[in-house]
Amino acid sequence: MRQASFERPAEHASGAGPNVHVVDHPLVKHKLTLMRRSETSTFEFRGLAKEISMLMAFEVTRDLPVTTVEIETPLCKMQAPVIDGKKIVLVSILRAGNGFLDGLMAILPSARVGHVGLYRDENTLEAHEYYFKLPGGMADRDVIVLDPMLATGNSAIAAIERIKRAEPRSMKFMCLLSAPEGIAALSESHPDVAIYTAAIDEKLNDKGYIVPGLGDAGDRLFGTK
Ligand code: URA
Repeated sequence: MRQASFERPAEHASGAGPNVHVVDHPLVKHKLTLMRRSETSTFEFRGLAKEISMLMAFEVTRDLPVTTVEIETPLCKMQAPVIDGKKIVLVSILRAGNGFLDGLMAILPSARVGHVGLYRDENTLEAHEYYFKLPGGMADRDVIVLDPMLATGNSAIAAIERIKRAEPRSMKFMCLLSAPEGIAALSESHPDVAIYTAAIDEKLNDKGYIVPGLGDAGDRLFGTK
């Protein structure tokens, strides 16, 4: 089996434009390495996905607008900051996106959750929709779209296109691993959607898998291999 070993500093990562945020905190890097290892069990992989998504949540939500409300502490009244607008919407691209939900819901316990079901045509690698459900009142909501793997970008592009029809206030895309090809395609189709990724890998192989990658994220999360 081919050995792949490389690590690009975020600022030199191929394909990383101003709209791409590589969340390369040492804890994230370490946990991602554990996830990549083929001997990591389903149980461990799932736990690591949750931990990394919690860590990435800090970066993804860093610029959420805040407003102030008057509260009363035991000592006095004060104007205290709260997140402005309606609840955040986490939109999972099924099925691997669900592997990110637990961690984000732990950090954002009141977030609403939407789902987009897309399957990938194994020949054309194009995305086809089979399920779509979002909460109401999207005009006041900030969306974080979740899919651990940004490979060709086809699923992310199709999901974001569909979500845009609901006219959310803002939208970001969060993944674990990305390929330069996926970043380029998504940035070109949706330049207004910032991409958050824990790493940018080397390339896609001819089957559309990220290399060195971590394999099929859905299979590894749900033990379906
Ligand atoms: N989806 C995956 O689960 N893994 C890849 O490498 C690419 C797409």
